[in-house]
Amino acid sequence: MAKLIDGKAIREFNLDKIASEVAQLKEKGVEPALAVIIVGSDPASRVYVNNKKTACERVGMRSLEFAMPEETTTEELLALIDKLNADASVSGILCQLPVPKHIDKNAVLRRIRPEKDVDCFHPENVGLLSTGMGKLMPCTPMGMMKMLEYEGIDPAGKHCVIIGRSDIVGKPMAMLMLSKSATVTICHSKTADLPSITRQADILVAAVGIPNFVTEDMVGEGAIVLDVGINRLESGKLCGDVDFEAVKEKASMITPVPGGVGPMTIAMLMQNTLTACKEQNNILM
Ligand code: NAD
Repeated sequence: MAKLIDGKAIREFNLDKIASEVAQLKEKGVEPALAVIIVGSDPASRVYVNNKKTACERVGMRSLEFAMPEETTTEELLALIDKLNADASVSGILCQLPVPKHIDKNAVLRRIRPEKDVDCFHPENVGLLSTGMGKLMPCTPMGMMKMLEYEGIDPAGKHCVIIGRSDIVGKPMAMLMLSKSATVTICHSKTADLPSITRQADILVAAVGIPNFVTEDMVGEGAIVLDVGINRLESGKLCGDVDFEAVKEKASMITPVPGGVGPMTIAMLMQNTLTACKEQNNILM
């Protein structure tokens, strides 16, 4: 039976380290600050924003929230971003997605200065990531890399198969895995004979958004399985993209949902805000 990779414990381990660095920065008179913008009243977005605020408190960072009404225009949102870009006391800026349909999401994501782009969505940061020169990393993939590091798993030479090619999970995960010398295969909705590929994985990443999509026959004996999916069932229960009960009998390690990859994402947002602050203040620690 697989060893469970405990996302909550690894999150706490990382948050402790971040909190101690934040304390050291404050002793130098520098305080990292995260500005979060939320437009409209989507209940899920509200929960995510509150969680980000709590995480800032946990590590001793300043958090600023800008709640804007649903009818906010792209221009108004860009004006706020310009103000935050110019504010030297703000280390990181993020705009909670989704934004209302009438807002030009790409214009918003491109307006955040790359140095403050703690979600790592700006094309400049995406490019830097692909060359291995990035300082800020996409939070969910970075969280998975930290989980592997914590568990003492070196991706070098391993075959990492990623199901899903999204800009926020699949593609950046492939880049991070490549930078650690894994052999990487990205699969997606048009991939032919998916199980024959996923069975070859030493490390299998599922980022599909379909409950229990990865079944036991798609996993090789002893694989490490990282489940990114967060799916809400009709019963209200959360479940991942992996058929956990069956797959855990075959894998050597597996992340649960909830309590796996999810908790790491917000910890890595704190990591990026800290990194951004240190870079902006030329502090090496
Ligand atoms: P997305 O919808 O942007 O991408 C899904 C990917 O799955 C696509 O690339 C698509 O090609 C692929 N896919 C769909 N059907 C497929 C099939 N039949 N066979 C193979 N591939 C198929 O999703 P996303 O934003 O990458 O998110 C994926 C899941 O991860 C969602 O459940 C989301 O909620 C979750 N998520 C979790 C976190 C976290 O913090 N844990 C962060 C981001 C996303």
